[in-house]
Amino acid sequence: MSTAAHSLYSQLPAIDRLLREPAIEPLVAAHGQTLIGDLLRQLQAQARVEIQRHAQLPAWCNDWPQALQARLLQQRQPAMKTVFNLSGTVLHTNLGRAQLAQPAIEAIERVMGAAVTLEYDLDGAGRGHRDRAVADLLCRLTGAEDACIVNNNAAAVLLMLAAVTPGRQVVVSRGELVEIGGAFRIPDVMRQAGCELVEVGTTNRTHLKDYRNAINERTGLLMKVHTSNYCIQGFTAAVDEAELAALGQQHGIATATDLGSGSLIDMTQYGLPAEPMPQRLLAAGVDLVTFSGDKLLGGPQAGIIVGKKAMIAQLQQHPLKRALRVGKMTLAALEATLRLYLQPELLAQQLPTLRLLTRPQQQMQQAAERLLRVLTPRFSEQFLLRAEPCWSQIGSGSLPVDRLPSYALTFAPLDGRGATLERLAERWRGLPQPIIGRINDGKLWLDLRCLTQEQALVEALNR
Ligand SMILES: *Cc1c(COP(=O)(O)O)cnc(C)c1O
Repeated sequence: MSTAAHSLYSQLPAIDRLLREPAIEPLVAAHGQTLIGDLLRQLQAQARVEIQRHAQLPAWCNDWPQALQARLLQQRQPAMKTVFNLSGTVLHTNLGRAQLAQPAIEAIERVMGAAVTLEYDLDGAGRGHRDRAVADLLCRLTGAEDACIVNNNAAAVLLMLAAVTPGRQVVVSRGELVEIGGAFRIPDVMRQAGCELVEVGTTNRTHLKDYRNAINERTGLLMKVHTSNYCIQGFTAAVDEAELAALGQQHGIATATDLGSGSLIDMTQYGLPAEPMPQRLLAAGVDLVTFSGDKLLGGPQAGIIVGKKAMIAQLQQHPLKRALRVGKMTLAALEATLRLYLQPELLAQQLPTLRLLTRPQQQMQQAAERLLRVLTPRFSEQFLLRAEPCWSQIGSGSLPVDRLPSYALTFAPLDGRGATLERLAERWRGLPQPIIGRINDGKLWLDLRCLTQEQALVEALNR
């Protein structure tokens, strides 16, 4: 190390002295000596690095209190930031899926800081477990006999298999051995649950006789998995739930369906792609149906199992239920979300997921044209901005081929080099409220379907 650097180091103020500076003392009083001391040590380390690199004292060393304030502010930013989801995927798993409805948000807030009757019987009627209120609502909405709530749908499938058919065979079509993102694969879940997977049929065609031929004294469950994120087209055949349920009943074997998303309302009434409904599968005779809380349902992350009373009781009593159960915030949000389904006429307004999915293209087009006018002056030196039609996706395991007409603001670099686009996307990802778009076809696309704070976006882009 050079002696020059050494003498510069000696100009750095001691932590003790800094802590007693009049401009820093109030920060110590407000945040405590531990945190402020830590931050000052970080700043000193940074100053040393900069001295070594540039052989001079960094400019910010002239104002330690201000540098400290800046670092304090930076460190108080939550790690989980809110973003503008302009990716074009409404239920984006990596962006937290469904945004909750206002009543669900208020319900969480209400129970968060208070003691609640989570598992407490006010009337001593012995109503049992924490899922009771939500299960009652689910029974009303789906016609189920009972319900069970766990951490997510993956947990729902795991618990169902572990509790209903431990050590026994589960018959599944080869066309339905699904992998969902994040390492959820049906064969692996079977193994974890201690079941033996019996594959029947072929990738493209499975018949009722395939299931029938697989039945023996070790069969514990006939299971269907909704092939939510892909579709097999052409020469295909699959057995529908009603047929499979009838076969199960003939042989005294339970049937179950992992629906993935599942929707409590008929999506086609809004012009959206058809999605299987749990209530229809139950009516068709399926014993247990599992689905997610934060996909099309539009609620908090949760796994929902609805079906026959005796089998749900088995799930509630299984030790895994204790490990996979949800907390009061989830139950409160789920209850408030499900209540919205009691007023289906209002749902498209009250449930953000449905509101976003049903937004008419014209709304996004008008927003795109407004933004184009406001933002063109700011970007016109480097980019060609346009308002262009595009397609949004539902996301979260809805079919990637089911797309919704939308509108985007697009940015094409005038110099035609892709690196400029990457830099732009990176800069937007670095904003206090990051903007998430998608690069396609030599352009950066901001799909405006999920844009609710237009003015805030303009301000962010004009920074
Ligand atoms: C999404 C999905 C799952 C996993 O649900 P999570 O709530 O994300 O755990 C399981 N099965 C199917 C068919 C799915 O679509």
